[in-house]
Amino acid sequence: MTEKMSNRGWLLDSIGDISLKDLPMPKLKAGEVLVKVKAVGICGSDIPRVYKTGAHIMPIVPGHEFSGIVDGVSEGVDPSWIGKRVAVFPKIACGKCDQCKKGNPGSCRNYDYIGSRRDGAFARYVSAPASNLLEIPDSVSFEEGAMFEPLGVAANAVRSGLQNASSGKDLTFAVCGLGTIGFMVALILRSQGYRNVFLIGNKDTQRMRAVGLGFDESNYIDAGAGDALKILKEKTYGGIDIYFECVGKNECISMGIESVAPGGRVVLVGNPYSDMYFPKDTYWKILRDQITIKGIWNAYFKQGHSIYEAVDDWHFILRKIVEGSLKPAKLISHTFSLEQTEKGLLIMRDKTEDYCKVIIVM
Ligand SMILES: [Zn+2]
Ligand SMILES: [Zn+2]
Repeated sequence: MTEKMSNRGWLLDSIGDISLKDLPMPKLKAGEVLVKVKAVGICGSDIPRVYKTGAHIMPIVPGHEFSGIVDGVSEGVDPSWIGKRVAVFPKIACGKCDQCKKGNPGSCRNYDYIGSRRDGAFARYVSAPASNLLEIPDSVSFEEGAMFEPLGVAANAVRSGLQNASSGKDLTFAVCGLGTIGFMVALILRSQGYRNVFLIGNKDTQRMRAVGLGFDESNYIDAGAGDALKILKEKTYGGIDIYFECVGKNECISMGIESVAPGGRVVLVGNPYSDMYFPKDTYWKILRDQITIKGIWNAYFKQGHSIYEAVDDWHFILRKIVEGSLKPAKLISHTFSLEQTEKGLLIMRDKTEDYCKVIIVM
């Protein structure tokens, strides 16, 4: 009980100033639960949030990719949640704006967000609305539970890419950018039974990781070596149906547009590094080949569905993991304790070691 009275977590006071502190226990608003955090991922977006741009509010406890055990509920919340293992959807729609009222909470105009707009999970305890909880069975580890957030983004990308696409398994895909999300996109495609998945990376460690994950080495394209676009076109006979851009750079988007087949699609996933532009000829190709460019953001989560309906990205991921066709834990390169969180942040900031998914376990 004494443990329960105190919280401990990493507080970001101002840009670059993050430290482990004794914190007050999160206060629960109506409809919320207290979650004892068991695992939390460090997201690529946490690095600029902590060291460069800051968060929307500060001081704040970062951490939005997490799972845990429900430890308490506020009034009005079903007490049977207590003791359940959960992954937590971090985006909290307002429920009041026009988009929410239209049943489109993913485009809420006034959302809250655990770990960037309110306190997150780089701490022993965090609060969250009960409506944002996804119960996970014992067969799904807490580490996997902490990967639902990025996996949901990847699932959204795949779902958006495949929308109205032909249903055969002979579609050809390219995934440009082999960070966590890029590999997640590739793993989800494979879990769907697709075999023609080309991976574009720029580090030997990425090639090794791709091979380690069971991807065919001949499907790996090194963007740093020679003319990647030419190699890509040769390997795919100019026939990429769907290209996933998971980097956020001009040249990677242009390569996608240049490499897809007529009628092909380019799904934009990566956050932009800079202003975006196309060379005129690339723009012409969008017109002449009637290419679809699709942006995606975040993921779609709807509570209360069975995993076999899987209408939303999170239940889809849950089903894939439970079925065994998706094994995201293979992407975990580092696990640290709460006390070692800063070490994980610095590895990702300074790139002192090769990493993929860095997870804090408690
Ligand atoms: Zn994230
Ligand atoms: Zn809203």
